[in-house]
Amino acid sequence: MSPISNSGNLVPLFEENTFDETPMDVSHLLQLSNQLQTSLDIESILTEFSENIQSIVTHGHLSYEHEEQEIAFSVGKNARHKVSYRLTVNDEILGTLLISRRRKFKAEECRQLENLLCTLLYPLRNALLYHSALSAAHKDPLTGIGNRAALNEVLDREIELAQRHQRPLGMIVIDIDHFKSINDTYGHSIGDCLLKAMANCADNTIRLSDQLFRYGGEEFVVLLPETDGKGVKRLADRIRRNVAEMDCACEGKHIKMTASFGVATLRKDEDGKALFARADQALYQAKKDGRNCTRIAK
Ligand code: GH3
Ligand code: MG
Ligand code: MG
Repeated sequence: MSPISNSGNLVPLFEENTFDETPMDVSHLLQLSNQLQTSLDIESILTEFSENIQSIVTHGHLSYEHEEQEIAFSVGKNARHKVSYRLTVNDEILGTLLISRRRKFKAEECRQLENLLCTLLYPLRNALLYHSALSAAHKDPLTGIGNRAALNEVLDREIELAQRHQRPLGMIVIDIDHFKSINDTYGHSIGDCLLKAMANCADNTIRLSDQLFRYGGEEFVVLLPETDGKGVKRLADRIRRNVAEMDCACEGKHIKMTASFGVATLRKDEDGKALFARADQALYQAKKDGRNCTRIAK
């Protein structure tokens, strides 16, 4: 592994290891290594690493990126002089780590840093495996959006925030109309294609702060922080119109679909289950009223 210069170019690979070559306090390395192994949380590991190496390689900023797992982490303020390393273990890419500061890095410091980085590799690898398993458990494989487990987790957090700061929180429950007969007519794989189209359409219509989940089957949920009843209804109708106008090209066929919508906004002291039950009840009403419409929870 060689350090990269201040030009900020990315690095030659990280190779283990050079423990014997530099006069570093081995007990410090062991202690750091033990410390990093106590967590599976990537941010905690990197923060610990950054703090712990300050006495050896002073720096004002550390950032880390793992493109494939869509992880980006940064502490401190980016500065002019940089050293950067691509971290790998047996050809497995563990991401890129960069540290920067106002002063140039000396060659000896870079050598020390490389030794220190050895302690980061395996804790980071374990944390990445854990992160990837957690992400998979919260993702719907067909549409790529969050699944019901993800919804439950996010909902608890959003409700806590909304209640604590007395801010509005909206929920939309969406159910594709007559989906069973779409499946029966066109087959399951076209049904799957329509589910993906539905997820894309809703995802492209909502704001960045809103979150879309596949609740199960042909049912989707949107959570809308900071949104009052009017706003929730407006967004539900916008998604509904976009879905109805969509011409879905699946396996050479062009298919139309509609969906029904139930909306609700969080009441004081309400929990996630109760909020969902009211939005779902409104959806039921939308189905009863002829489908392809939005109904507001009582
Ligand atoms: P309604 O308008 O009342 O909602 O009628 P519906 O036919 O949409 O509702 P119903 O609950 O009777 O049917 C839902 C269908 O969704 C039945 C099931 O086979 C289908 N479905 C559930 N999950 C999937 C999936 O992952 N892929 C496909 N292709 N179909 C699915
Ligand atoms: Mg349904
Ligand atoms: Mg349905």
